[in-house]
Amino acid sequence: MDFQLKGKNAIICASSKGLGKACAAALAQEGVNVWISARTAETLELAKQEITAISDSSVHAVVADVTTPEGRDALLAACPAPDILVNNAGGPPPGDFREWGQQEWFDAVNANMFSAIDMIRRILDGMVERKFGRIVNITSVAVKLPQAELGLSNGARAGLTGFIAGIAHEPAQHNVTINNLLPGFIATDRMHGVLKAKADASGTNVGDFSDGFFNKLPAKRPGQPDEFGATCAFLCSQQAAYITAQNILMDGGLYPGTF
Ligand code: NAP
Repeated sequence: MDFQLKGKNAIICASSKGLGKACAAALAQEGVNVWISARTAETLELAKQEITAISDSSVHAVVADVTTPEGRDALLAACPAPDILVNNAGGPPPGDFREWGQQEWFDAVNANMFSAIDMIRRILDGMVERKFGRIVNITSVAVKLPQAELGLSNGARAGLTGFIAGIAHEPAQHNVTINNLLPGFIATDRMHGVLKAKADASGTNVGDFSDGFFNKLPAKRPGQPDEFGATCAFLCSQQAAYITAQNILMDGGLYPGTF
């Protein structure tokens, strides 16, 4: 299927590794010019080379902390009129909520709620004027299936989800969609860190814990970043114009509910 995205411009936040990089790679392979970003210049440059090698699209690297106004300014200075925006940032640390004070909560809400809202605030009207826009927010299965040790993530991402539910309908008439993509356990550095924390909390070594964990998952395996990237690219496609305001789980069947 041709997603009809050739020549479009995309900002993918937090994309030198993991899910962000996979989304950037999938979009670049669809002919989208991509602006990737991260805080660490070296890994960002490696990601740029990797994506350039597998696509004919132009790949631009912007060293930026997306959780700061300066970082978001840098991204939008480099790509002022994106057709596609993938919002993403590093996840908050796992832990015990009794140990989290105001600063920990402000950091999580800033990274996993406000940064995405501010990017949308700054690009949405331009998308509406140009009659094309695709916004994908990388959130988490934790929005639907909260995990106690991921309380900062549960809280901040639920806040973003509520905000998106309020604004995502109106722009649909202008061919602008906003959706959330909810990863379950997709094999990235972050996933390995979360599994390690779970293993430590249960007093098990991480290998045994992971084997037991994935054995109970319907898919019996972690997801792959390229599966996640392909879904993101589809949500950005012309064909997905009628999908908006949705929370799309990619969790290998982890979430057991009907809705
Ligand atoms: P990852 O493999 O650790 O990659 C994180 C990427 O984001 C890196 O490129 C990192 O580069 C960049 N980054 C982190 N903080 C940033 C910031 N402030 N500004 C700019 N770039 C930043 O993580 P991932 O697995 O792709 O996860 C992406 C998001 O999905 C996270 O919020 C995570 O919690 C969430 N999530 C992931 C899973 C999963 O299974 N993988 C499941 C649920 C939720 P630098 O460090 O150089 O900036």
